[in-house]
Amino acid sequence: QAKGGDKGTWQRYQPELHTAMVRRLEVRAALHDAIEGDQFRPMYQPIVDLHTGLITGVESLVRWEHPARGLLGPFHFIEVAEESGAIIAIGTSVLRRALAQFARWKADDPEISLRYVSVNVSARQFRTPGFVDLVRQALADAGARPEWLLLEITESLVLRDADQVWADLRVLRAMGVRIAIDDFGTGYSSLSYLRQMPVDVLKLDKSFIDDILTSEQQRTMVDAIVTLARNLDLAVVAEGIEDAGQRAALAGMGCPYGQGYLFSKPVWPGEILELAQGVPELV
Ligand code: C2E
Ligand code: MG
Ligand code: MG
Ligand code: MG
Repeated sequence: QAKGGDKGTWQRYQPELHTAMVRRLEVRAALHDAIEGDQFRPMYQPIVDLHTGLITGVESLVRWEHPARGLLGPFHFIEVAEESGAIIAIGTSVLRRALAQFARWKADDPEISLRYVSVNVSARQFRTPGFVDLVRQALADAGARPEWLLLEITESLVLRDADQVWADLRVLRAMGVRIAIDDFGTGYSSLSYLRQMPVDVLKLDKSFIDDILTSEQQRTMVDAIVTLARNLDLAVVAEGIEDAGQRAALAGMGCPYGQGYLFSKPVWPGEILELAQGVPELV
């Protein structure tokens, strides 16, 4: 039996819970070694202009090259990393790698259609004192222009601690870095807030795209968000486009950009040059 709940009630011992807890502790310990051993690297997924099919940007998506378990996606470790604070070191490593990689792509192909690399930033990382300076330093070290960087943050970060977070967002944007709200639509941003938020891009969550062809209601929602975004001078990236019908519907609504398996899964950096080399149409 284990004591559980804050009222001091006794609960039945649950082996699954125990296993999950041990698992988390194992991951937590292993993350420490993984940071020391520099085992994190991003893959990159193209973000495409829905009208021309050209790749305009890429999103960096972290992977853990676990010596025993192989390549692990964020599902296996991001939550634990956020709890333990390891996400700060992981995020820094991903940011630095992504900027260095972007500068390399630009150097390898000056004509490349790629305009930016998008980097996910967890709330915990963003709120670490000195985050803005870290970004400035990472840009300088990579020889990257601020315009090459798009930072993806969550709605909840923008809503919590609004004063400090908004001040930092304004400094970043004044530097030339752009800001996206990731998974837009899954949180609680009120539309009136959206008008004032210091952001440049909305990434429309995959859950909106999934049934865009089958649900009239969902189509109406997406259409309204795209129109609103356009009027507010925000770009929209539709996430998780998996088939041509979804792409056509989004393009028809005037949604400018998209990302998803229809175009490409996340790939290693060497494959991006090929994908982005003047391929006018990917589908
Ligand atoms: P996200 O930022 O919303 O990234 C999109 C996720 O959807 C990625 O999963 C991507 O591989 C997946 N995806 C893209 N297109 C499709 C599609 O057409 N169909 C389906 N089913 N999935 C698609 P991934 O790489 O597993 O990343 C999951 C989440 O982990 C990300 O969601 C992001 O929140 C987080 N993450 C990834 N990299 C980082 C990082 O460097 N730092 C932080 N803090 N979080 C990260
Ligand atoms: Mg993202
Ligand atoms: Mg997203
Ligand atoms: Mg998402």
